[in-house]
Amino acid sequence: MWDGGGDRSARLGAVSSPLASVKVAVLGPGTVGSEVVRLLTQQADDLAARVGAPLEIIGVYVRDTSKDRGPHLPPALLTSDASALVSQADVVVELMGGIEPARTLILEAIAGGASVVTANKALVAAHGPELYEAADAANVDLYFEAAVAGAIPLVRPVRESLAGDHITRILGIVNGTTNYILDEMTRRGLDYDVALKQAQDLGYAEADPTADVEGHDAAAKAAILASLAFHQRVALDDVYCEGISAITSDDVIAARETRQVIKLLAIAERTGGGVTVRVHPALVGEDHPLAGVHGAFNAVFIEAESAGGLMFYGQGAGGTPTASAVLGDIVSVARHKATGGKGPLESNYAVHEVLPIDAALTRYCIRMAVEDRPGVLASVAAVFEKHGVGIEIVRQVPGQTHAGLILSTYAAPERDLRATVEGLRASDAVAEVKSVLRIEGE
Ligand code: NAP
Repeated sequence: MWDGGGDRSARLGAVSSPLASVKVAVLGPGTVGSEVVRLLTQQADDLAARVGAPLEIIGVYVRDTSKDRGPHLPPALLTSDASALVSQADVVVELMGGIEPARTLILEAIAGGASVVTANKALVAAHGPELYEAADAANVDLYFEAAVAGAIPLVRPVRESLAGDHITRILGIVNGTTNYILDEMTRRGLDYDVALKQAQDLGYAEADPTADVEGHDAAAKAAILASLAFHQRVALDDVYCEGISAITSDDVIAARETRQVIKLLAIAERTGGGVTVRVHPALVGEDHPLAGVHGAFNAVFIEAESAGGLMFYGQGAGGTPTASAVLGDIVSVARHKATGGKGPLESNYAVHEVLPIDAALTRYCIRMAVEDRPGVLASVAAVFEKHGVGIEIVRQVPGQTHAGLILSTYAAPERDLRATVEGLRASDAVAEVKSVLRIEGE
């Protein structure tokens, strides 16, 4: 059993004096945590050389110390006393997930002088400012590369590599579960429920899939990325969020007929003097690179004033890929502990207003059933004209009792597009607005 560690006063303030070893505590040896422990053990020599001091796992926090955790987690490392463990560590790696006790333990770790690595997007999105302030006050690092898009380096490029540029837009697929479901619906013609069940059977989706399919997970990542990209705090509540649970096979078929696919996108952009951050399903053209992101993969485009367009692609989840991102953070913060230095502080000096989605510029594709009689097209067009929304493409499709009509708009503010849809719903010419999807990625 874990023996309580050594003299921690010798480690506090050790930034300027090289350490014999960097003491690492891991909280939560689950899918990611167990891989982190395995890699820390198996790659110990390489990691020591990269850090400048050996990384010593001083303990792993679990609720049940009697449970067998596999060959890479010897019982001697396990402890159920998290507070004692974090108080002895130079680096605390939080991989439990959820808000509590993760938040309290991270704050305890920081107060005790430890740097923190976490993959916990929910916590960083909801309590990032509190954690940053504590870390800044204690002069320790707070790293969370794995909290956004698993293995894909995204936090570090946005926070550090692009620190001299102005990011104008981030657009991407940041949730592998929903991408898998939509991809199965698109490529194999599965219904939503069947694709979801398949995702659950394969371990891509939780038994309760709400956080993924309703867009909450992607919204947390969008809030984190937007805060970093725009140098200001973007709260979870600032993110407009719509999931994929209302997407039907008819939507997928209609998309295919117009050479488009449906993806759940996270979009953060500078718009009209402010910023908007949103997560929702959207149509992207079949030849757009995001359309080629299959299965549970993630991909993110970043547009910056000087750098231009950048694309990041890879595995957004999974124990080993996510552990890669966690290990990268551990090396960085451990280096600072061993040989001096410190990672970036929170950058929140900017004062762009975070605008509601109403201010976002987007395009709509509206699928509806209309009365099959002369003058209907003119009535429909009048609704668009009233709200100043231009129609780019009209397709008529045969229907049984009504004619089917698919309209794509030119770009317009979301508020005008919504008003147009309300106008269509109220119009005598329209029997039913069947679906409304935004068109993005152009
Ligand atoms: P997981 O498999 O559910 O593992 C969580 C671990 O934390 C388990 O060992 C669990 O212990 C422990 N734990 C949970 N609550 C605890 C508590 N209150 N007290 C003590 N131990 C507790 O989760 P995961 O998939 O590894 O995810 C960990 C973190 O990484 C989450 O923040 C997640 O969002 C993030 N992340 C995961 C992925 C991924 O692909 N899995 C990708 C990116 C980011 P028991 O074994 O006793 O239940």
